[in-house]
Amino acid sequence: MELKGEIAVVTGASRGIGRAVALELGRRGAVVVGTATSEAGAEAIGAALAEAGVEGRGMVLDVADAASVEAFYGRLGAEGPGMPTILVNNAGITRDTLLMRMGEEDWRAVIETDLTSVYRMCRGALRAMMKARRGRIVNIASVVGAMGNAGQTNYAAAKAGMVGFTKSLAREVGSRGITVNAVAPGYIDTDMTRALGEAQRQALLDHVPLGRLGTPEDVAAAVAFLAGPGGAYITGETIHVNGGMYMA
Ligand code: NAD
Repeated sequence: MELKGEIAVVTGASRGIGRAVALELGRRGAVVVGTATSEAGAEAIGAALAEAGVEGRGMVLDVADAASVEAFYGRLGAEGPGMPTILVNNAGITRDTLLMRMGEEDWRAVIETDLTSVYRMCRGALRAMMKARRGRIVNIASVVGAMGNAGQTNYAAAKAGMVGFTKSLAREVGSRGITVNAVAPGYIDTDMTRALGEAQRQALLDHVPLGRLGTPEDVAAAVAFLAGPGGAYITGETIHVNGGMYMA
């Protein structure tokens, strides 16, 4: 129970990587707030946490909406469990298309949801973390931010931006006892990658030395490490959880 006494907020916890992260941090003793974009989703998260024996709740949050973020932090403070000591910025979307077909709406939606959201969520959490002189922030980036991917200029820009943001914020808040890191998954078996056809999945696997897609639990283990005692002296880093894709 190495995370006992911590309050963890995980955005986009209704499914996939976010759900696995929320459950793993909870199993390690944190009180967990998992966010969803709907009331039904928030209730489902609450039920999943309870079923796993984890203390916590689901809450509604749209990270792409500044007013929703502000209301979320207000409710956390007023209704409990209180301001986070661990923040995992996981919520994200893709809107894939080649640049010459990409309208501004597809560009803005991804930048807003995947990058500007991190700016907002960190600002909301940091005042309390700075006062307490402790905190852990983990941003979920992507292999695409480092390698690029045709059809994902918007997503790659957001995820690469997230890495620069992570390094810069780590420098700003290190003296306050707060670490800021990123975890960059490769191809993980979630709804996001299930949308790919079988041929495309097989082509991806050809680039993965470990010979399989990752699981949400593979990513959750890295996040939990950075949030726990083992991550105490690590900041500004990106851990790549991608089965060795860079070596292929
Ligand atoms: P997913 O689509 O299964 O889950 C995304 C989550 O984000 C959902 O819970 C969704 O409700 C939430 N979300 C979307 N828009 C939101 C908004 N405006 N406000 C709040 N929540 C919102 O995806 P996933 O595969 O679990 O991805 C989770 C994170 O991991 C994302 O940031 C994604 O970019 C990143 N990632 C995934 C992969 C992969 O292969 N699956 C690889 C690299 C990075």
